[in-house]
Amino acid sequence: MDKTRACVSWCRQVLTVVVFVSVPAFVVAQTSAQASQSSSTPPRSRGQGEPTKADLLRGAYGPYRANNDLLFYHLDIRIDPEKKLISGKNTIRFKMLKDDTRIQLDLNDALKVDKVLLGSAPLHYERDSGAVFVDFPETLRSDHIYTIDFYYSGSPVQTGRFGGFTFGTDASGHPWIYTACEGIGASIWWPNKDQWRDEVENMQISVSIPDNLVDVSNGRFMGKTALGDGYTRWDWFVHYPINNYDVSVNIGNYQHFSDRLGDLDMDFYALPEDMEKAKKQFTQAKGMIEAYEHYFGEYPFKKDGYKLIEVPYSGMEHQSAVTYGNHFANGYLERDWTGVGISTRFDFIIIHESGHEWFGNSITAADSSDMWIHEGWTTYLESLYVEYMYGKDNAIKYLNGYKSKVKNERPIITARGVDGEPPPDQYFKGVLFINTLRSIVDDDIRWWKLLHDFYQHFKYQNIMTEDVLQYFNQQAGMNLTPIFDQYLRHTAIPILELKFDDSDGTVSYRWKADEPMFKMPVRVGRKDNWQILHATPDWQTMRTTLKKDDFEVATDLYYVNVIKE
Ligand SMILES: [Zn+2]
Repeated sequence: MDKTRACVSWCRQVLTVVVFVSVPAFVVAQTSAQASQSSSTPPRSRGQGEPTKADLLRGAYGPYRANNDLLFYHLDIRIDPEKKLISGKNTIRFKMLKDDTRIQLDLNDALKVDKVLLGSAPLHYERDSGAVFVDFPETLRSDHIYTIDFYYSGSPVQTGRFGGFTFGTDASGHPWIYTACEGIGASIWWPNKDQWRDEVENMQISVSIPDNLVDVSNGRFMGKTALGDGYTRWDWFVHYPINNYDVSVNIGNYQHFSDRLGDLDMDFYALPEDMEKAKKQFTQAKGMIEAYEHYFGEYPFKKDGYKLIEVPYSGMEHQSAVTYGNHFANGYLERDWTGVGISTRFDFIIIHESGHEWFGNSITAADSSDMWIHEGWTTYLESLYVEYMYGKDNAIKYLNGYKSKVKNERPIITARGVDGEPPPDQYFKGVLFINTLRSIVDDDIRWWKLLHDFYQHFKYQNIMTEDVLQYFNQQAGMNLTPIFDQYLRHTAIPILELKFDDSDGTVSYRWKADEPMFKMPVRVGRKDNWQILHATPDWQTMRTTLKKDDFEVATDLYYVNVIKE
């Protein structure tokens, strides 16, 4: 479903190709099995050097994508663990938005297109750098709905930050097959319109696997059917719009247990040897959902339920089917993640990856350039969980622990329309920026309402930073544009310059920032008696009884640098 029509501002942006960034795998560590890469199809550059044709074909919302609006997918595949083969089809239903004879879909070159059918008529197609252009013998008419069946087969390459598609085995020798393809893209293993802007309205997922295995995919489990040839088909139905990269299969020797939170079904899947640990650790999911519902409102995918599924990599936000590999221990991979003694109180992966149900899955960025809408916000949700459970002081302490991870080497928002990923600052600087916004609003009752209403306003939509900014400007009744731009579109954070004249008993102050109109209130003085300084880029002077060394700036509340002279 194209959820971005309300957004008028971002699509008019001129596409600029700027610097690309390297993509460290820091939130989801690669297992050694995932690290290998096939030689048959080299991974896309994804941020290194000049964009390739593939980067542009996949990253841009080109004319053969923009001419249609996705409605429905039925991914119906058979997975053979022994031969490491996928075969099957994706039935794709879409509405044309203008008259045309061609649409763009995507499928990694390592996989074979067997045929593309409109009804029973085979369609001509052309493959180019991961894109599959499908041609129709007659013009497709605007406002008309069409359905095609895209048949494919082959062995997907194991590549990208999360492995893409992995044929693995568990410690007891059972097949363990899983997907995690954010970044590299869902077309690494199935044919689809592989971009972020347009989502289907709902989706059916049918996965046929050997009888002794279990598949857990997204959505509501609809049942399984023995096919009589040693295979069983597992059917799942997703009742909501879903990102391509969220669509997942998790196939293994899973056992299952369930719980309920009010009328929300919660289902948990783990290997038999890990069941006891899972039953203990996964109890944290309830408190997580209660915390996020407190701030934002109802869990977004209630008809599909909430699922948590053990996998061998650290975790991924697959919609309504969050994957988990955090060793059944608190912290992140048994570390104190923000280094201030708080993240050891909870399971980072349950809290972070599930937070994406609200930001990432329900509210989705329409272009990966604006991925801070997923990661900056979800990192902020971590601190909200801390605040809900342990109070504001601990939340502020927790999120300030992220300062040590910020690099400030390039802006959080990257080039639009190019396949690539913003730098990790989108998480760390993102959360510190949102905390700064809270201090600017400086009224927690208003802040909580603003957050709640912001989520409710944009839920199930694909949005850009301009939409976030416009909402906050309107609802907060402030001009936050220079502040958003400074933190998101520039490398450096603002510097508060202070010049003391002790003999005169004054301090002069101003902001030094890239944005010429940068203005932001900031708390200064003494912790027990802050006063708010309305600093601007121009020097102003005020009286103070405090000497230079005693004059503090509330840098836990505002992410700024301070220079005192
Ligand atoms: Zn995340």
